[in-house]
Amino acid sequence: MSSNTSVVAKPRIMIIYTGGTIGMIEDAKTGALVPFTFDHLIQNVPKIGRLGFELSHYEFNPPVDSSNMNPALWKTIAEVIAAHYDQVDGYVILHGTDTMAYTASALSFMLEGLAKPVILTGSQLPIGEIREDGTENVITALQIAAERIEQGLRAGQPMVQEVAISFGRHLWRGCRSTKESSTDFGAFRSFNYPSLADMDLHITYHQDFLRRAEQDKPLTLQTDMSETVGIISVYPGLTQAVLARQLETPGMQGFVLRTFGAGNAPTASWFTDTIADAVKSGKVLVNITQCPAGGVEQERYATGDALADAGVITGLDMTCEAALTKMMSLFGRGLDAARVAELMPQSLVGELSD
Ligand code: ASP
Repeated sequence: MSSNTSVVAKPRIMIIYTGGTIGMIEDAKTGALVPFTFDHLIQNVPKIGRLGFELSHYEFNPPVDSSNMNPALWKTIAEVIAAHYDQVDGYVILHGTDTMAYTASALSFMLEGLAKPVILTGSQLPIGEIREDGTENVITALQIAAERIEQGLRAGQPMVQEVAISFGRHLWRGCRSTKESSTDFGAFRSFNYPSLADMDLHITYHQDFLRRAEQDKPLTLQTDMSETVGIISVYPGLTQAVLARQLETPGMQGFVLRTFGAGNAPTASWFTDTIADAVKSGKVLVNITQCPAGGVEQERYATGDALADAGVITGLDMTCEAALTKMMSLFGRGLDAARVAELMPQSLVGELSD
């Protein structure tokens, strides 16, 4: 569905530059890609000035390759967003692609009551190169962050009122996205939720799929992310020693269990007993499929049923990134295991289909 939209007279957009390939340049000596500053980045995209937006910016010093992203840096981003919330209409976060889906998911849970666009983008090739995808990605993200609803009861409100990833030809919900390619200019995809907008000659918004927020609700930060949560992958050949060692890591409160297909795992008693013991000891185990598309239906096969019997909670069709950061956020709020287990299969910010 294409919609009638408009851009406010002089949109106030804040660019948060965290790093990533988009802002990298070739080191003359080694040939390796190293990050460069926000000013260099903007000098390389003079077209940004032609948008006529009122731009402000915050930059990480030094910028980071997103493989070094972590909960403390997510907190910094969330705090910058909150500190400028009344002065800007939208945000564009320039970020490396490698962990962009984790950051987008984490921010979705951290920014409670968000009613403005927070658009993450980056690129596969650095903006300084002759052939690259960064310029178009930045310009498009800025335009999306400035877009307003033109007609109806919500006229004048931001078109996007959530955390989203704009990359290549699509806008995806942040907490539904996954990096699917290390080379394709369409690096991201949301396998279980439709695109929020498609970009070709026009930017076509799919208003039915965009999240709608209460505009008069204040933004509340929930930035404490527990690091007592991890990911365990199930694979043919997994041994009891390896599984038990991970589950028994001191201090851990919960794990995302990455299973096969519709949420299946080995049914050998050593496996189910080890899992059941972990649940009995108070840990929250959430079942997420290793398949990029589809989700967990624990009761579909006996192999999934056994996990449900052992006390594993279904993660339905959440991405691994969303499940991990959601659990970090819930434990970070000080909730107990029973409440975390109860909330994991419930949609908080549109991260799962219920
Ligand atoms: N390693 C880079 C990063 O994630 C890759 C990229 O930006 O695409 O920061």
